[in-house]
Amino acid sequence: MKEFWSKRIRDAVPYVPGEQPTGRQLIKLNTNECPYPPSPKALEAIRQGANASLRLYPDPECQALRQIIARREGLGKEQVFCSNGSDEVLAFAFQAFFDPEQEIVFPRITYSFYPVYTTYFGLRCRQVPMNPDFSDPIELLCGANGGVVLANPNAPTGIAVELKVVEKLLNANPHAVVIVDEAYVDFGAASAVGLIDRYPNLLVVQTASKSRALAGLRVGWAMGNENLIQALRCVRDSINSYTVDRLAMAGATAAIEDEEYFQTIRQKVISTRIWVEQSFKEKGFTVLPSQTNFLFVKHVRRGGKELLEGLRAKGILVRWWSDPLIKDWLRVTIGTDQEMDALMNALDELL
Ligand SMILES: *Cc1c(COP(=O)(O)O)cnc(C)c1O
Repeated sequence: MKEFWSKRIRDAVPYVPGEQPTGRQLIKLNTNECPYPPSPKALEAIRQGANASLRLYPDPECQALRQIIARREGLGKEQVFCSNGSDEVLAFAFQAFFDPEQEIVFPRITYSFYPVYTTYFGLRCRQVPMNPDFSDPIELLCGANGGVVLANPNAPTGIAVELKVVEKLLNANPHAVVIVDEAYVDFGAASAVGLIDRYPNLLVVQTASKSRALAGLRVGWAMGNENLIQALRCVRDSINSYTVDRLAMAGATAAIEDEEYFQTIRQKVISTRIWVEQSFKEKGFTVLPSQTNFLFVKHVRRGGKELLEGLRAKGILVRWWSDPLIKDWLRVTIGTDQEMDALMNALDELL
């Protein structure tokens, strides 16, 4: 029943977000949220912002938030663009920088929104097979492309590449925009932000959703040459000028200013990841080297779907994909130490 639907929507194959349960208390390790609360300063800023000023539209240019991000990263404010989550920033970027004449390229296993945007915006892509160890096929992403999209670290593998590899991609694709999606960069990888002044074709995308524990606020940002930032503005102002609301702007600004809290929670996630990786290995799992807040794991005998369902029955949600290339794998978000203890106990019972 798709009567009245536009042709574009009839043909769309949308992204499938991870489950957000509403009923029973479950241990949620399926959508890479932070297990710790946001900075108390962010929560206070949101409370303070909940006043009569909400009758007014927010600042469409997000000046205060861009200023804080620019200062922290050593950029100019005109090199920063903010919007309603990095998914929206990415959607704007696909429209701002890519044309259907030339294929854009990204690895065969990566964030599943990239192929969705490609189709939805009428673009064409080439999905380059991964190396056998699930590392990114960098050589094959180089040269003669209409654009490159690289999640670094990659999702759902968790594997990061070094900056010299990002630089190689930038040099090999001088006439195309290279989008580096750094949603997980704060959990151990090197950011490409420092390359922005040397590469006019580099767009770095980050988010407050993971390392700043603000997935519910919906704030993401892009950093790059002023020319690229202008193009993103052009897309935004052709759709919706006010993509970041007043409360989100206040909360995200305070969260980014609270460097100490940020360092504490990201370090906690990293130290939990280290022991959890070891525990998985002791139980017979292969674990890819992760620089993120999740682990991508495969058991020697048990299939991914079987474990997914077994864990669900015990009140633990993890993420699984039916794609034949990764159907034996599970992506497990790093929770608190207690949550991970519960996961390990549940696995002991299942295995
Ligand atoms: C979580 C995630 C995003 C989306 O983040 P939002 O800012 O919450 O929209 C983007 N890219 C990757 C690779 C992610 O895992």
